[in-house]
Amino acid sequence: QPAISIRDVVKRYAPAGGGEGKLALKGVSFDVPVGKIFGLLGPNGAGKSTLINIMAGLVKKTSGSIDIWGFDIDENMRNAKRSIGIVPQEIVFDPFFTPFEVLEIQAGLYGITQHLRRSEELLRAVHLADKRNAYARTLSGGMKRRLLIAKALVHQPPVLVLDEPTAGVDVELRRQLWELVTQMNREGVTIVLTTHYLEEAEELCDQIAIINHGECIANKPTRELVGMA
Ligand code: ADP
Ligand code: ADP
Repeated sequence: QPAISIRDVVKRYAPAGGGEGKLALKGVSFDVPVGKIFGLLGPNGAGKSTLINIMAGLVKKTSGSIDIWGFDIDENMRNAKRSIGIVPQEIVFDPFFTPFEVLEIQAGLYGITQHLRRSEELLRAVHLADKRNAYARTLSGGMKRRLLIAKALVHQPPVLVLDEPTAGVDVELRRQLWELVTQMNREGVTIVLTTHYLEEAEELCDQIAIINHGECIANKPTRELVGMA
């Protein structure tokens, strides 16, 4: 059974003015195998974020189906949601909460009881233990991104999805984030990430699906894909 199964997913956004509305996904299908780092590669506007936002329950798909860890997101949203952690592209914290508080609030949202929480452990894993009590607004961009990853892992999902984790970050931070993703994967988490950097997908991912103009035009182990180019 795949970690994520995407079948014939179509998304047409409601039209802004008149007309038809933008067809952002034109019937996308692929499987993400368990235990892999899976890259969703494509240029800006290809439909990557739309797909991620559908998985996250933020955008409603027009048709098709998505299973996460075997749970259909329409029929079993509760279990699907517990099986996935999403790291959004935008950094979205209340500036006056501390990293520790951000993780505790998230744990609360998932109904995780006090003694089962692992905020300290997560802060260590993303190298933020020394910023435990700093206000989020004082953290650097890199620290905020690492905190977002920790936040997505609070409920110990088997699948972690990252939307353009390294868009607009410098080389040093990109390295850091790659290392963190690889480390999470070694610990058993299936990773899906979107990127428009071919080099990033090649270095990091076991398998790459290429999405362009709302269509999945390739889906192969990285070795084979790179061999083709
Ligand atoms: P195309 O890529 O075919 O040129 P666009 O992506 O520019 O089309 O946009 C198609 C429609 O979707 C436009 O009406 C645009 O205003 C709207 N749109 C595009 N991106 C967004 C967005 N992120 N949020 C809201 N509306 C958007
Ligand atoms: P990517 O993440 O690959 O850059 P997106 O999923 O953001 O691509 O966008 C796919 C297409 O859908 C683009 O043409 C974009 O402008 C359009 N789009 C994205 N969000 C909206 C929206 N809220 N309303 C209308 N069109 C949108």
